[in-house]
Amino acid sequence: MKEYPLTIVVFSPELPCITCETLTNVLVINPEFGNAFAPVCPLHGLLYYGGSALDTPEGHHLEQQQFLISRFVLSPYQQTGRVVLVWKVPPESIPGYRAPSAAELGVREEHVARQHLEDLAWSVCYEVAGGEHRQCHVVWSWDDLEFALYEGGRDVTAERSEQASVS
Ligand SMILES: [Zn+2]
Repeated sequence: MKEYPLTIVVFSPELPCITCETLTNVLVINPEFGNAFAPVCPLHGLLYYGGSALDTPEGHHLEQQQFLISRFVLSPYQQTGRVVLVWKVPPESIPGYRAPSAAELGVREEHVARQHLEDLAWSVCYEVAGGEHRQCHVVWSWDDLEFALYEGGRDVTAERSEQASVS
């Protein structure tokens, strides 16, 4: 069996995210990318994390994924509250989700399967500070290289981050 060492490090002081320059204290070290040392913000959390692509992830991979997904879900709440449950679902099962078309990907229809990695998706139950339970869906897009959050049948990622910057 192939050993797949992946490490997630929480460090301080904060460094800019490798993609968007948001300050972050989490980095992923991934030997598959030449031991890339990649500070990643909640939105770009899965960028250098290879464990989500494994056919048979082990317990610690699932924990690492759950950590990165939870961090994204709780980011508008300053990481208060908690994620109760995360399970993988087919992206097409998410209300409001639409897989990118060949035109959007800039490839020909017959090349989509070969040139496009299917999005990853999870159903997530979480609890915000104060105890209210909510359910959402989280999608990781390999085309956009970021997470999106679906609630009530639509993508609310941008609204959430605006709320966070207002509050
Ligand atoms: Zn980022």
